[in-house]
Amino acid sequence: MRRKRHVKIVATLGPASADLDTIGKLFEAGADVFRINMSHATHDAMRERVAMIRELERRFGRPIGILADLQGPKLRVGTFRDGAVQVDKGASFRFDDDPAPGDATRVHLPHPEILAALEPGHVVLIDDGKVRLRVVEATGAWARATVEVAGRLSNRKGVSLPDTTIPVSALTDKDRVDLDAALAAGVDWIALSFVQRPEDVIEVRNVARGRALVMAKIAKPQAVTRLDEIMAVSDGLMVARGDLGVEMPLERVPGIQKRITRLARRFGKPVVVATQMLESMISLPVPTRAEVSDVSVAVFEGADAVMLSAESASGQYPIEAVATMNRIGEAIEGEQTYPAVIANQRAEPERTGADAIAYAARDIAETLGIETIVAWTASGSTAMRIARERPRTSILTLTPNKDAARRLAIVWGVHAVETEDARDMDDMSARACRNAREEGFTRVGERIVVVAGVPFGKSGGTNNIRIAYVDAPSTP
Ligand code: PEP
Repeated sequence: MRRKRHVKIVATLGPASADLDTIGKLFEAGADVFRINMSHATHDAMRERVAMIRELERRFGRPIGILADLQGPKLRVGTFRDGAVQVDKGASFRFDDDPAPGDATRVHLPHPEILAALEPGHVVLIDDGKVRLRVVEATGAWARATVEVAGRLSNRKGVSLPDTTIPVSALTDKDRVDLDAALAAGVDWIALSFVQRPEDVIEVRNVARGRALVMAKIAKPQAVTRLDEIMAVSDGLMVARGDLGVEMPLERVPGIQKRITRLARRFGKPVVVATQMLESMISLPVPTRAEVSDVSVAVFEGADAVMLSAESASGQYPIEAVATMNRIGEAIEGEQTYPAVIANQRAEPERTGADAIAYAARDIAETLGIETIVAWTASGSTAMRIARERPRTSILTLTPNKDAARRLAIVWGVHAVETEDARDMDDMSARACRNAREEGFTRVGERIVVVAGVPFGKSGGTNNIRIAYVDAPSTP
């Protein structure tokens, strides 16, 4: 099964997509990676979904990526005596360390470290920014704030603090338990929410120890100011536009999305654009023009993947949403202007053998009109460096490593096939040709560009490039 687009699709699983049949249909419609949101999934539900996806891999004979998304330090207010209160503009309101139920003048903020970090001038947003307050006085035990945007406050609503660097790790106790469970279940990617600093990502990497790759979700202004450092220690980034649009003015989100996608492309690490991409498809079978345009922007930017959240997790049209994204990806990549737009954003190769070879592979293929680059890879890194070039060709990736094949499911343009490693140079070319033919990438008589690291079986040494002719299959 071969996709006719380079951009990948991540579909979040939830109650609307909880059974094998639906997940299989999502895959057939175009989902390359499934996201399990640990804010909602129990460990049993997560394990069940992982097992179903692995069963589908066997049925379809294709590697499928699984991304477990950790909740992170989601802050919440305590409870109210009557369940909810109305706060009016200009009113004074207190956040404190008293667990007694709140009223229209105060509420418990059950995070002592946050109370200690609040300072006069800091904004406090409640319920995805529906209510806005500004701190005027803070003692460490309580903070008094003035209501700037009025609204209703109710039990356990989320709190966002765009100005406050939260002095806690992005990994909560719940996340640690979820992380262990997800790693034990064999997920391929871990996404970390509310990253503020590189150390947050390093903490997850230290637990994961290579068992899964780590994606930093960029949702906080503090992360936006340290993007380069966070990118350097992450295996990928997610533009988490939901929380980003709460913590920062909405009109800044598109510019930040562009910055993040360009940075990730420069590093050659996958970047996912997420949230509200086809939001109206939660309850309607067709998207709005604006949503189609939004997905197309991410495709034109050369993002590795576009993501569906509630559309596929709890919406009424999960399969239609994936199919719609699939069609948008295919249509945009078929646009006349697409190759030039993608090429304009291409970063210079780094001064490494792998990048010199990736650059040369694209150059040779495009000069000779060759349609497929075949990358032999052990860790997945050779394929990622070729994807970084965003060639017009397909990128068929051959790897003896099942984990690498699954992790590459999120990477732009990569079609990974698990196969035993090449024995020698002739075997490398012969099997590249055979796989390219069998997977439907080339026909007999056409040429392919083959890239590999020699000696085989060792990762990190991309040093070989060849042009090979695809011969007719030999008859036994
Ligand atoms: C987001 O904030 O955009 C996001 C993807 O995170 P979550 O869905 O976990 O809120």
